Amino acid sequence: MQYRVNPRNGDCISALGLGCMRFPGALGHPDPHRASQIVARAVERGINYLDTAYLYPGNEACVGMVLEELGLRDRVFIATKLPHGSVDGAVDLDSIFDEQLRRLRTDHIDYYLVHNVTSPAQWERLRGLGIEGWLARQREAGRIRQAGFSYHGSEGDFPVLLDAYDWDFCQIQYNYVGEKYQAGTAGLCAAAERGLAVFVMEPLLGGRLAARLPDRARRILDAAAEPGLQTPAAWGLSWVWDHPEVTMLLSGMASPEQVDENAAVAERALPGSLTPAQHEVIARVIAEFNRANRVGCTGCNYCMPCPRGINIPGCFSAYNASYAHGWFTGLSQYFTASAIRTSSPKLVSNCVRCGACVRKCPQHIDIPARLEDVGRRFHPGPVGWALKAWSRRQA
Ligand code: SF4
Ligand code: SF4
Repeated sequence: MQYRVNPRNGDCISALGLGCMRFPGALGHPDPHRASQIVARAVERGINYLDTAYLYPGNEACVGMVLEELGLRDRVFIATKLPHGSVDGAVDLDSIFDEQLRRLRTDHIDYYLVHNVTSPAQWERLRGLGIEGWLARQREAGRIRQAGFSYHGSEGDFPVLLDAYDWDFCQIQYNYVGEKYQAGTAGLCAAAERGLAVFVMEPLLGGRLAARLPDRARRILDAAAEPGLQTPAAWGLSWVWDHPEVTMLLSGMASPEQVDENAAVAERALPGSLTPAQHEVIARVIAEFNRANRVGCTGCNYCMPCPRGINIPGCFSAYNASYAHGWFTGLSQYFTASAIRTSSPKLVSNCVRCGACVRKCPQHIDIPARLEDVGRRFHPGPVGWALKAWSRRQA
């Protein structure tokens, strides 16, 4: 395993971290047996950083149980996150944090993040509620070792947030199609210049730069036939690790085999290891990706559940697939996502524009509007009216 040093405290962190949000299992019910297999293999391959969050349903408890059963707590850094929208005072900070320690079956969190910050105003609100003093007390008591934030706001706001507190680290979304998205490359460099450890999430955009890469982009990578870069995932991860400013990237590996594949790439992908010719290949892939990609959904599930039962990420995945892999492929996926063959289908036209999902989306997608696009793509005009009427009768 390749390790990179946290410039703030000297921790040697595996360049590949395990994102636990995508543990296999039903939404809210991660499968503990499969999670245990993944964690065991990850640690065996040298991974020493596990990321979870209060808001990932059932996830903290699963991580805590698995680590205790495997006896691995002392061999990994645990990262988890504060749901700042649920905090209205110091009492909430204490009660949420105590619950997190209980779920994770530990007495301290190694890396504690304010979750999904999208603007400096959110941090200012927390400051007003006394979070700085609270963090200082937790650090002094050894209950929090490093404090940071995960970010989904604009490039311009990012440096403001970096300078708003004496952070130890930050976590940003970063991948080869997102150099100018959210914090982007400018934010990566700004954080590194300030001496922060920088952790990267969504290096493969929830699989859209891996198994779900558009066919034409995939063919470009296959034609390049670069040794050590046999898969789209290897290209995507290597591109992130090519940046010396990156301390660690998180991958949501869903099987021990995926852990093996990514760990093998991590051993080779040192900073500055991609050649100019390989960067040129990636530039061509970006052009193809942008042609096929219609909705920037990463499949994070933050917007779920929808009160009308719509499988929002599933519908967007089908929509993107219809451009990346052909209309019939997308339609087949849409049939599955919308349960169209069942007695209670959940068509995108069921959306009543309540807006509940929009507030939660870290990618700032206008979900109701884009669901209309999905509807136009898969059940246009009279077909849509007939399906909607039928769906209402079944509801
Ligand atoms: S706006 Fe539409 S898709 Fe979003 S939660 Fe409401 S009904 Fe569901
Ligand atoms: S629509 Fe937004 S919140 Fe929902 S899964 Fe996609 S990226 Fe996540």
